[in-house]
Parts: sequence; structure tokens; C-alpha cells
Amino acid sequence: MSETQDFDSARAEWEELREQIERYRTAYYSEGVSLVSDGQYDELFHRLEALERAHPELAGQDSPTQEVGAALVSVGFPPHEHAERMLSLDNVFSLKEFAEWAAKVREAAGRAPRWLSELKIDGLAISLAYRDGVLETATTRGDGRVGEDITENVDWIPVIPRRLVGEGIPPFFEARGEVFIATADFEAMNGRQHELQAAYAAEQAAAGKDPDAVAVRFPEFANARNAAAGSLRQRRAEKSEAQRALMRERLGRLSLYIHGIGAWQHPELPNQSDLYGLLSGWGLPVSPHSRVFDTVEAVQAFIEDCGVHRHDFEHEIDGIVVKVDELALHDELGATSRAPRWAIAYKYPPEEVVTRLLAIEVGI
Ligand code: NAD
Repeated sequence: MSETQDFDSARAEWEELREQIERYRTAYYSEGVSLVSDGQYDELFHRLEALERAHPELAGQDSPTQEVGAALVSVGFPPHEHAERMLSLDNVFSLKEFAEWAAKVREAAGRAPRWLSELKIDGLAISLAYRDGVLETATTRGDGRVGEDITENVDWIPVIPRRLVGEGIPPFFEARGEVFIATADFEAMNGRQHELQAAYAAEQAAAGKDPDAVAVRFPEFANARNAAAGSLRQRRAEKSEAQRALMRERLGRLSLYIHGIGAWQHPELPNQSDLYGLLSGWGLPVSPHSRVFDTVEAVQAFIEDCGVHRHDFEHEIDGIVVKVDELALHDELGATSRAPRWAIAYKYPPEEVVTRLLAIEVGI
């Protein structure tokens, strides 16, 4: 952006961008469709943020930079209001930007925080509310305030504990996490789609119909995130026996890692990393990959190392989430309407760009 861009031209560009981003968001969150790649979307979003930084009067309540997700277009699940809002995360796209963010946090905190560093799981956010250790509701993030109550599907999702066991479970709390499909399960799911497609074509052929002319009924899932979202947001009512069996099979493949809390009553804890130990002890799955570091340089090394091994983890990742470990600082630093100030997502460069660069490098 040129320093001299005048307000009128900035506003015109902002309006066009906002309209475009809204269209992509609605398709993505409500219909599970990506009209552009995540990298392209992030670039547009970043540009919108830059315009708003240069012209703060543009950043009104109706900007996507102030919102989480998109207004809910439910496939029929009842709405459910979270006891505490579910937020998104702000992003950085380089190690330098990360260090700048960390310096700002350190300054605001008045002391050097320890950094809890985690894989950013490419899945779907979920909130699990437990009352007296028993699951009460399972809810998608929605617009952060109200999500879809998908509790009716939970008895087919073995990875979500219905009852927690152990000492000190709060009378009520919300566990926040990511539902995802592990890479091996994603491949198996797409393999199964092929099998079903072939069986269907064979049935058509046996009935004397042209097997090549059959309607495509079992398309491949575009990516693991879509597969997870599509499986979770299905309603079993109005499905045939065969469809229910397939739905159950897919829900059985979902995985879950808890990466935070919403509403929470005692016990009080010093750090988010302590929380993970506690949750895991009660039966909630947490990622084995998180690490706590004392310095920004150590976090940067972790980011680089995970980037090299990006495809070696059991699930897809699209970045690293860095959080201030000390919980008292979460309260002190607070949040914007969209994201906490005590956490950031470092996003790896989109793979399609990397592929193109490599292709140029080797001359193809
Ligand atoms: P996000 O995915 O960038 O990050 C926030 C989410 O990360 C959280 O809500 C949480 O569920 C998840 N997360 C995963 N691992 C986590 C961990 N260890 N700790 C904490 N949270 C973790 O933000 P978003 O608001 O969900 O979605 C925005 C992103 O979605 C965009 O950056 C883009 O990549 C994608 N998007 C794409 C399109 C498109 O058209 N392609 C449209 C809209 C959004």
C-alpha cells in the first residue's frame, strides 16, 4: 500500500475487499466450500487489515476483521449459545512478524512470558460443555457466540468422552478443541468413497444401466478439514439405513485434541500447559506435540523444525499456535472482538505456492 493512498481510494478498495471476503467466508463456513485457496484468502484478509491499520476509521463493527467465523446457516441443528465466546486467532506470516508480536506481548505483560507452542491442527473447532463431569453439549464454533448443537451425533463419535473421571473436575466447564481426521484415516475415507462408487456403478450395470452415466454419488473429499466438517455436520434423521451406517463409519474416524477452555470454575492453575495435564488425566485427549519455551528464538526454531516435518505428523497442520503459558496473563492481556491478545497463529506458506516455486526450480 502506498503511504499516500488517499482515504477515498482506500475506502473503495476496502469495500471491494470486504464484499469479496464475506462471499468467501459464507461459502467456507456455512457450505464447506472453498472458492479460493486458504493462501489467497489470507492474503486478502491481510490486505484488509493493513488498510484498516492505515485508516482506522474503516475498521467498523461490520468488518470481517472484527468477527469470528460467519453468521450461521445451519443444516438443521439447534443453535446453542456458548457460556464463553469462542474466538479465532490473529495470524503472522513470517518469523520476523512473530518476533514483533512477541515483543509487543512482552511489553504489555511487563515481564518475559514463557511460550506454549503447539501444532495448528487443520480441523474444525468444537466446544464440549461438561456438568459434573458429564457431557452436556457439543457445539461448533459458529459465529463465536452461537454455534450448532451437534450433541445428537456424539454417541457415534467415540473420541468424545461422555463422562470424565478423576479428582477436581469443575462443576461446569467448556473444553475447547479441534475435531480432525488423521491423515491415515483421510486416505482410508477417500479409498472407501472409491469402493462405494465402484459398487454403485456395478449395481447400475447389473440393472442394465450405463455405469459411466451414473450420477456421482461418492466424490473424494477435497481435504481432511472438509471431510471432518462434512462428517460432523450431518443429521441422521431422514437418512436411510445405508446412509446412517456410512455416517456412523465416518464419525468413528474423527479424532480430537483439546487445546483450551472456555467457561471454567476452579481449580485455579498457573499455566495452560498444567491445564493440559489435568484435562488429559480426566480422559480428554490432548496433543503430544506441544512444548513450552523460554525464548522467542527457541519458538522460532520450533516453528522452523515443524515446518520441515510438516507432513510427518499424524494430522495436517497449517501453522503453529503460540500462546502465553501463564493463565493470569491471559486475563491481563484480554482479547479483541475476534481473537485473544495472548496467542497467535504462525501460518506456513501455502503449499500451492511452494509447489510452483519448486516446479520452476527444477524446470518443469
Ligand atoms: P484460523 O483457522 O486461522 O485459526 C483459528 C482456529 O484455529 C481456532 O478457532 C481453533 O479452532 C484452531 N486451532 C487449531 N489448532 C489450534 C491450537 N493448537 N490452539 C488453538 N487453536 C487452534 O481461523 P478461522 O477463523 O477458523 O479461519 C480463518 C482461516 O480459514 C483463514 O485463515 C483461511 O485459512 C481459512 N478460510 C478460508 C477460506 C477460503 O475461501 N479458502 C474462507 C474463509 C476462511
